[in-house]
Amino acid sequence: MIRVTIWYEYVQESGQMTPEFEAQVPEGQLEGFRQWIPESTKKIRRQYPDGLMETLAKYLRKDPEFEVTSVNLFMPECGLTEELLEKTDVLIWWAHIAHRMVPDEIAYRVVRRVQAGMGFIPLHSAHQSKPFVYLLGTSGTLKWREGDFCRIWTAAPAHPITEGIPESVDLIEEEMYGEPFDIPKPDETVFISWYSGGEVFRSGCTWTRGYGKIFYFQPGHETSPSYHNPHVLKIISNAIRWAQPAKIRENFDCPNIVVSPESLRKPRA
Ligand code: ZN
Repeated sequence: MIRVTIWYEYVQESGQMTPEFEAQVPEGQLEGFRQWIPESTKKIRRQYPDGLMETLAKYLRKDPEFEVTSVNLFMPECGLTEELLEKTDVLIWWAHIAHRMVPDEIAYRVVRRVQAGMGFIPLHSAHQSKPFVYLLGTSGTLKWREGDFCRIWTAAPAHPITEGIPESVDLIEEEMYGEPFDIPKPDETVFISWYSGGEVFRSGCTWTRGYGKIFYFQPGHETSPSYHNPHVLKIISNAIRWAQPAKIRENFDCPNIVVSPESLRKPRA
């Protein structure tokens, strides 16, 4: 049994503009967010009547090897208690507009757990989430443009994550993510995507940090149908099997990481 936890930011889908959310919006952008979020909520619900991450969870729950728990930002401790992380073999992370709402204490809790052996699968816009950036040490910045045709090429056909995946997979509509993608050199570039605008992107990359395995995977823009695509879903379940811990460092801690008051600074404009 592989214990999978799906962490979901859930701001756009739920439409919850809490005071904490508003406080972290960069200066001058609040009015724009107030208009954009309700529209975005409608579009996500149209594309994913069961919910964006619930659609993924439903698929994964059909696999008798997976035990799936769903948590989100609005739960106490962002849903990521020490107890839950200790019982998580692989953590999936989807986030977009509220990365700063995850306190550093929680982000470093995830980092330490990955270093201890937990698998980590950041999806799509999680490329700038705190755990992603803190684990990899680069900014995670990239180019982007909404709404483009995407062809995902399998670049490492012998890799376990590509098991049962064809040479290429077409997505009728996905957000374009383009190079340069500011990441450390991947252990393996498993997928490379091409967009009709001509851009290419390292869309499936692996790393290890400590005992933990990491797989970043690009598809999953909230208003695109990618999590209805059987190949995309299969890639994620392959990645869960690949990322499950070979060994966990019990009672692993890194007491020299002290969370600084810097993390509480006001968001930059
Ligand atoms: Zn997106």
